[in-house]
Amino acid sequence: DPRLQAISDAIRVVPHFPKQGIMFQDITTLLLDHKAFQHTIDIFVDRYRDMDISVIAGVEARGFMFGPSIALAIGAKFVPLRKPKKLPGGEVIAEAYELEYGTDCLEMHVGAIPPGERVIVIDDLVATGGTLSAAIRLLERVGAEVVECACVIGLREVKGQRRLNGKPLYILVEPR
Ligand code: 5GP
Repeated sequence: DPRLQAISDAIRVVPHFPKQGIMFQDITTLLLDHKAFQHTIDIFVDRYRDMDISVIAGVEARGFMFGPSIALAIGAKFVPLRKPKKLPGGEVIAEAYELEYGTDCLEMHVGAIPPGERVIVIDDLVATGGTLSAAIRLLERVGAEVVECACVIGLREVKGQRRLNGKPLYILVEPR
């Protein structure tokens, strides 16, 4: 797919961000490139429009930048999976996960997704898969059916696996 090269080219690599030795994949430049951004959304929409998906769940924060456009185009709702203590009111369900140093947590409103709904989880990038694994666990705890995880960028090793917690993993490009 020739669109993938345009998407890859639009991602900026920022060396040593947020710390020494990290080659940060910056998708803000992809959002600035209307054509590449459109290609990104189109590819996901073409893949998911006929899969009976009722929920796009986006991981804070960069999953929020792709998820809603996909959700609107396929006629699904968008559910934000948020970092701790951001969701106002209502009952919240939380799932912790390991980071390189310490732990983090994703939260979701209870009742946002009735049991049995078919969900795609979206984020910008998968590295170890820890974040997406937590998202899958969280969604399965409320009885959602996680159909697939989708990311714009995935490391070669992860991309090769094509599965995560037994769920299919769909990735557009490798890090630059
Ligand atoms: P994982 O849990 O798979 O190890 O890390 C993925 C999470 O870290 C994602 O939520 C992603 O947004 C963030 N992340 C880690 N490294 C990068 C990077 O180089 N670029 C971007 N855009 N996000 C990153």
